[in-house]
Amino acid sequence: MASIADAPALEVVETALPITVDGREQMFRAFAFQGAKEEEQLLVLVHGDASAGQALPLVRLHSGCVTGDIFHSMRCDCYEQLQASLKAVLESSHGAIVYMPYHEGRGIGLFKKMRAYALQERGVDTVDANTAIGAPVDARDFGLAAKALAYLGLNEIRLLCNNPAKVEALAGFGITIAERISVASKPNRHNERYLNTKRDRMGHQI
Ligand SMILES: [Zn+2]
Repeated sequence: MASIADAPALEVVETALPITVDGREQMFRAFAFQGAKEEEQLLVLVHGDASAGQALPLVRLHSGCVTGDIFHSMRCDCYEQLQASLKAVLESSHGAIVYMPYHEGRGIGLFKKMRAYALQERGVDTVDANTAIGAPVDARDFGLAAKALAYLGLNEIRLLCNNPAKVEALAGFGITIAERISVASKPNRHNERYLNTKRDRMGHQI
């Protein structure tokens, strides 16, 4: 089993980061982490602290998605999930959003994700499209995320997540998931098939 000790080395920098959520200004503490590989960089936005309440911290591990997070693409539900998670974390006494840009396209990168999209346009589903271009269905590694959580004292958490495999991966790195809380998103005519595939072929509990 992998452990936090096997995860990449860690460099950290911290700053305040004001952002807007639903048009309102919200202040987070932002921590950037650099892993062993140049592309392994992640951002953690922390809200509140452990002294603020009784509940375990509420955490979202979010895989970067240029098309969804930035352009609000309707081919996936990333933007909706990120916004719902930000709101849930802000409503909690203590929580964090862990954002992993290098998890783009479930870890295969933007270009291959777009190649897979092009195949999906011809009727191939998200799992088979990855296989067809020789990319793994899921290439994400959660070692750096687990190490960042441990660094921030977030060793026991409630996780905003629809993907049981993610829960297992984190647990494998020594993070205790006391509760998994689903993040709802509304299907639209562009992503209905994608969401169904995530549910039927990837074990997502949507
Ligand atoms: Zn997306």
